[in-house]
This record gives sequence, structure tokens and C-alpha cells, in this order.
Amino acid sequence: MNRKKSIGFYHRALEMIPGGVNSPVRAFKAIGVPPSFIERAKGSKIFDVDGNEYIDYVGSWGPMILGHAHPKIVAALKRAISKGTSYGAPTPLEVELTSKVKKAFPSMELVRMVSSGTEAVMSAIRVARGYTGRAKIIKFEGCYHGHGDSLLVKAGSGAMTFGIPDSLGIPEELAKHTLIASYNNLESVKALITQYPEQIACIIVEPIAGNMGVVLPERGFLEGLRKICDEKEVLLIFDEVISGFRAAYGGAQEIYKIKADMTCLGKIIGGGLPVGAYGGKRAIMEKVSPLGGVYQAGTLSGNPLAMTAGITTLTLLKSKKIYQDLEKKTFYLTEKISECAEEKGIPFSINRTPGLFTLFFTEGPVRDYRTAKMSDTKRFAQFFIEMMEQGIYLPPSQFEAWFISLAHTQKDLDKTIEACDAAFKKI
Ligand SMILES: *Cc1c(COP(=O)(O)O)cnc(C)c1O
Repeated sequence: MNRKKSIGFYHRALEMIPGGVNSPVRAFKAIGVPPSFIERAKGSKIFDVDGNEYIDYVGSWGPMILGHAHPKIVAALKRAISKGTSYGAPTPLEVELTSKVKKAFPSMELVRMVSSGTEAVMSAIRVARGYTGRAKIIKFEGCYHGHGDSLLVKAGSGAMTFGIPDSLGIPEELAKHTLIASYNNLESVKALITQYPEQIACIIVEPIAGNMGVVLPERGFLEGLRKICDEKEVLLIFDEVISGFRAAYGGAQEIYKIKADMTCLGKIIGGGLPVGAYGGKRAIMEKVSPLGGVYQAGTLSGNPLAMTAGITTLTLLKSKKIYQDLEKKTFYLTEKISECAEEKGIPFSINRTPGLFTLFFTEGPVRDYRTAKMSDTKRFAQFFIEMMEQGIYLPPSQFEAWFISLAHTQKDLDKTIEACDAAFKKI
């Protein structure tokens, strides 16, 4: 595969952008080869500057559930752009997208739009602290909630890949308020609650974890968190930045029938433009400025283009059939990949939910950070390169999810399975 132009851009980028990339995992550091520079994308495919074509399982890390450059989104954006790109004043579009979000997530009684998932989570944590008057938060090892200071402790994929469990630059005074529990382990949560009585503002969790690779909540885990939070008057925050509108239209809350006190969204709700949202119970969200004393603002929040892409995406997703289709594709692909891996005697474990899965190179089961870390990352790197050579673009880390879109065709899936079969013979 010729990647000469990509490599040229990479060298130029290295001169002026840290690591040549604007988000760490794009650097392919865990793989040890330069990243491809992308020129365009359409449907299930992305095309690099050297003219190579790939079937894309990154999907911009989640937003592109409809596939790239969906004609209806492109048309809606064309119409919107001619009306101006930002006003710094309220618009009907914000009302429309918010009402769609509220219908999908009834626990979000009041909702604030922001410009990224990171911003949504950072803001939700501030509100939880402001509302409860408590400083400490509980998060789970291997869950990623964006790069807010309080949340970059044991923060999953990026940090796992680069072997930095905690980021530099976060004062100890702040980090000490972030308490770490183990995913799928209620006892680890109870121990922290006992150790710090009436000091914990919130428990934040990815109700379907996607950032140590996909890890599903075991029976009783989310229910147990809800119960603990109710008993101790701790706020339960679901970070559904990945799972929202992907695992189901109403996210994990629809699947597991549990209401969070606050919810964070991002990725899909922006339809490929920068959007995040956070919201929750009215009494909690009334703490947000200008109603209450928790300050949070944004020059481009509720941006008309981003709202337009979000509204169009959610409108197109609003059908049960869509999620059945996504589930069928995910299950077909994972069943076939499993058969190939078994046949070749490769130790593996697959965790999956509609639209999202991870193939771990470990005997499994993977149920938390510790078991995810047992994966053979060298084997993953070889697998990634073999797949790329065959025109399959995977997330460049063992500890990430493969994202399936509605644009993936049967032919795409079958080509991917053939490529896996060939790759498994070589790794
Ligand atoms: C991606 C992600 C975020 C951060 O969103 P950004 O838009 O990248 O800031 C937060 N939480 C989860 C669960 C995510 O997957």
C-alpha cells in the first residue's frame, strides 16, 4: 500500500503539531506506523491522500452512525450555512434539538448544549458539586469522560495506550477528590462511600463502557449504583457520549431502564459537528447560570450548523428498525470474526452491543480494566497493520471500540471478515 503522501504530511505535521495530531490516538502510536491522512469520506468508506480506500470502523469515534457525508445531512447543512454560521443568540434550532434529546432521555428535564463531550462532562461535574456542596467524585478505572482535570485519573483508552495512568499537570489538591472504583464491582464503590461519608458529590460511569474497549455492565451493576446513590444522596451521572443514540435511541437508560440524575451526551447528537449536551433533573439543572450559581457558558454553544446536523441525524435515527439493522450487522460481523479466530486458534474475547464492539486478544472474559489489560497488544498491532493493508481501517488501539454505521453494506462486512481471516493466519 502506497502511503507516500500521508507520510509527507505526517512529517510536516510533526514540525508544528504535538505528535503531528490534534488528538493523541490518531497518531497510531500503539501500532508504530505513521497515520494515514484523510482527504474525504463517503458512506462506510474513507479515502486517504494517496488515494487508498478503506472500510471505516472508526466513524470519527462514534458520531458517524449514518455513515459519512449522508446526503440529507449535507443538504441540510448547505441550507443552514447560507443563513450564517453563528449568532451568539438563541435560535429555534436549539429548541428543536433539545426537545428531541429530552424525548429520547426523559431523565433530562433541563438540558444545556455545549461544544464537546469533554465540556458536557466537565460542566456536569461542576453542577453536581455545586448542587450537593460536596467535592469528591467516584469514577471507574478505564472509563474515559473527556479530558477535564478531575476526570483524567485512570482514564482508559488514550491513557492505557500510552501507559500514562494519570495526566501530568493536574494538581494533587484536585486529583485527590477523584476516587477510583472498579467497573462491575459494587463492593469497590461501597468501600469508597463508607470511607468518605457525605463527601461524595457524584458517581460518574459509562453505563456501557467504550473506552477500555467495549465492556458491558453486568446484571445488577447499574441497578446497584442507582440504589447506592439513592441511599446516600449521591448524584448518579451517566456518561452516554458513546452509548447515547447508538446502543439504542435512548441509550443505556432505555436498555437497562434506569434513570440517571444527570446525563452527558456528545458524538452522535452533533451528526459529525462539534456538540455535547448535559442535563438532568430540573432541581439540579436549575443550579446552572443564569438560573443558579454554577457558571457555564460557550461562544459557539448551540451553534446553528451543529444543531442542524444533530436534528437531521436524530430525525433519521428515529425508528426501531434502524437499531435492529445496526444490531443485525454488529452480530453478523462479530459471529463471523469469532468463527475465524476460533478456527485459527487465536485466543480472543468479543464484547458487543448494537453498533459497537471490541475484539480483545485475550482468552477473556473482559469485564473491567484489569481483564482488558490482559490483552496481547503486540498481536493487536500486527492485526491492525494486516487489516489496513487490506483496506480495513480499525481504531488504532486494542482498547477502543469498533464503530459500525448504517452505511456498512453486506459486502463491506463480508470483505472485513475475509480480511480478518487472512490477518489471523499471519499474526
Ligand atoms: C468521547 C468521549 C468523551 C469526550 O468527548 P469529546 O467530544 O471528545 O470531548 C466523553 N465521554 C465519553 C464516554 C466519550 O467516549
